[in-house]
Amino acid sequence: MTHSPLITSDATLTIVTPVYNESETLVQFFERLKWVMDETGHPWTVLFVDDGSEDDSVALIESLQSQGHPIELIVLSRNFGKELAMTAGLDHCDADAVIVIDSDLQDPPEVIPSLLANWREGFDVVYAQRERREGESWMKRFTAAAFYRTINLISRTPIPVDTGDFRLLSRQAYQSLGLLRERNRFMKGLFSWIGFRQKGIRYVREQRFAGTSKFSYWRLWNFAIDGVTSFTTAPLRMATYLGLFSAAMALIYALWVIIKTLFIGESVPGYPSLMVVILFLGGVQLVSIGIIGEYLGRLFEESKQRPLYLIRHHRLIGEDADKSADQPEA
Ligand code: UDP
Ligand code: MG
Repeated sequence: MTHSPLITSDATLTIVTPVYNESETLVQFFERLKWVMDETGHPWTVLFVDDGSEDDSVALIESLQSQGHPIELIVLSRNFGKELAMTAGLDHCDADAVIVIDSDLQDPPEVIPSLLANWREGFDVVYAQRERREGESWMKRFTAAAFYRTINLISRTPIPVDTGDFRLLSRQAYQSLGLLRERNRFMKGLFSWIGFRQKGIRYVREQRFAGTSKFSYWRLWNFAIDGVTSFTTAPLRMATYLGLFSAAMALIYALWVIIKTLFIGESVPGYPSLMVVILFLGGVQLVSIGIIGEYLGRLFEESKQRPLYLIRHHRLIGEDADKSADQPEA
C-alpha cells in the first residue's frame, strides 16, 4: 500500500487528451472541462495531443490557447494512433496527477471529481468503468464483452471489464507507465500491468457529441489481436496443444486401421478419410504458423527500436504560435 503524501489543494493536475479530427467537439469539450476543473480548486492544465488531424483541430486549440487558457499542445508529425498519442502526452507531463480523457465528450468531464476523491483516499490509478453504453449497437456491446471475457480468461494481467482509457494516474503511476517502451501498446493492459493501488468507479458513457468513431470493426479486431498477443503467449501454447491433440487422434486412428485390416480386412481404399486427415492437419499447421508469425512480427517491430512517435511542434502554455520551433523530438 502506497501512502501518498497528504494531497492538498495546491497539488497540480494535468488533463491529457488525444485529438484526431475532433474540431466539431473541441470547443464544447474544453468549456465543459474548464467548468469542472475550476470547481476542483486545484491548479490545472490541459495537454492536447494532436494525432495528425486533417481538419482544423490544431487551429482551434491554438486559438483557445491564445485566449489565455492553461493549454499545452503537442502536435505529432502524423497519425500514430490513440495509444501512442496518449503515450506522447503522458511522457510530457509534470503534475501530481494526470487524467486521461477522450476529447469527443464520450468520457464526461463531470466524472473527474469522483476520480479525484479516490485519489485523495490514496489510490494511484482510478479508472472509470462504463455502466451502460448509450447509442452503441448491440453488436459493438457484444464484441466488447466477448473480448474482455476472452482476454481475462487467457491472460495473467487482469484487464477490468468495460473500462476505456478514461482514468486518473498518480505521479508514481504515470512515471512507472513511462518506463514501458514497447511499440505495441495495448494501453488498457499496460495501465493494469503497472499495479499500485487501483480502483474502478462506475459512470454512464455518453454518445459521441459529434463526428464519428474512428474505430471500425476491422480496426477493433486488429486491436483485439494486439491486446492478446502483447499480453499473453497462450495462443502459442494453444497451437502446441492443437498439434498434440491431432497427432494423438491420428495415432488412435492408425491403430484402428491396423486392427481393422488384420481382423476384418480392408475392402474400400480409404480415400475420403485420407483427404479429411490431410486437410485437417494442413489447417492446423497453417493456423500454428500464423500464430507464430504474429509473435515473430511483434518481435521484429520491437527489435527496430524506433521512437514511438515524432513531434512536429510543442507549444507550452502562453507561448506564441510563431515562437514555437518545428523541431523533431522523440
Ligand atoms: N484518437 C486519436 N487517434 C486516432 C483515433 C482516435 O487520437 O487515430 C482519439 C480521438 O480523437 C478521441 C479518442 O481517441 O479523443 C477516442 O477515439 P474514438 O472516439 O474514435 O474512439 P471510440 O470512442 O469509438 O472508442
Ligand atoms: Mg469516442
